[in-house]
Amino acid sequence: METRSTPAVLHPRERHIVAALRDVDGANRRELAELTGLPRTTVTATVASLIARGLLTEITETEDSAVTRRAGRPSPTVRIELATKTVVAVEFGRHRQSVTLMGFDGRVLNSTDIQLDLTQSFEAIAAGLAAIAETASSAADRPSAMVVSVAMPFRRGAGAPQIPTYSSGEKPFARPRAQRPYWLLTDPSAALTEALGIPVVIENDINLAALGEAGHGAAHGAHTAVYLSVVPGFGAGIIIGGRLFRGAGGIAGELAHVSLREDGDLCVCGNRGCYTTARRDGPSLADDFATAFGRTVPLDEVIALAADGDMTVRRWLTDLGRSMAEPLAGFVTMLNPDLLVVDSALGPAAEPVVDGLRDTIERRTSPMTYHGLEILPGRLTTTAIPTGAAVLAAQGYVDRLARPEPIAPFGRRRAIREWR
Ligand SMILES: [Zn+2]
Repeated sequence: METRSTPAVLHPRERHIVAALRDVDGANRRELAELTGLPRTTVTATVASLIARGLLTEITETEDSAVTRRAGRPSPTVRIELATKTVVAVEFGRHRQSVTLMGFDGRVLNSTDIQLDLTQSFEAIAAGLAAIAETASSAADRPSAMVVSVAMPFRRGAGAPQIPTYSSGEKPFARPRAQRPYWLLTDPSAALTEALGIPVVIENDINLAALGEAGHGAAHGAHTAVYLSVVPGFGAGIIIGGRLFRGAGGIAGELAHVSLREDGDLCVCGNRGCYTTARRDGPSLADDFATAFGRTVPLDEVIALAADGDMTVRRWLTDLGRSMAEPLAGFVTMLNPDLLVVDSALGPAAEPVVDGLRDTIERRTSPMTYHGLEILPGRLTTTAIPTGAAVLAAQGYVDRLARPEPIAPFGRRRAIREWR
């Protein structure tokens, strides 16, 4: 068995098989021969070796009945073995911190709240995360990866953008927020990987929720899906072909900062008239309801009221969906997604938002764009982010397995020999 942090170095034909299985929900040996162009006997021997090393698994008959049955299938379906690997999903939310141990296959193994002071030094954070990984290890085998979810824009290799400061008298429209934790202003992934001995990646929370819904929720199987976050802040995560699309700078999907009025209020991001400022009542649904109801209304209560059919709350949520359609209509026309998924965390409160979005997007986009666009509520409620962490970790693991080795001197000749 390979070590956990550095996957097995695979033979080129093994990498070829893994790469062929990466984007399909299992394949049998005949299909693998077609997908890879390798002779059937080579496929059979290579699959047997990969199964023996725990890298592939054969799907049992009962599981297989859920997979599309193909008549006269000559051999059982195999897929990449993910169930035995785990990832520690750490959530640094705006209101809550938690750690969830997830199977790479998307199963929630256990979850607990944590408290880590994010204003500490990098060394203290690294020690805290190492202790979290250690605690998770005692409950299962050593985890294969850690994914840290942060509730702020985060650019791979660069870190979280600093909030601009203003020297003029004009104050940006936003509640006063703490500055970004110092250790997140550069990407600490490599240093954390070094400190913990397992791959560690930092990712934006909305991107992870989008990946979770794409891997195991409402967006499973979608071609191009856009996940829309409503709580605790407005944002979008873009999934193309099951993979996260981050954009050139890693901050694609900042729905809150689509500028709707160029002479609008100064936004905390440095722009004017952003969607989040145009709404006038803050970036958080709970805050919106505090304005509407004249008291603090926790999200759980909003969801319960919507589920009970409270007309005020449902109307308010429908209007919210209509207002979100405004910054989205042009984007939907440009991207032509087949699916919009509304915030997993809203649960039954997502339905009225979906209604509002449908209504306005239909009126604000051409029929050829609207046709074929589905708008659905998220399905994963509170587990969307850790599920996304599992999907991200599994994709990273499989990519590392399938990645060709760099060509060393004589490497090409060796590779050619191995193919014979
Ligand atoms: Zn803005």
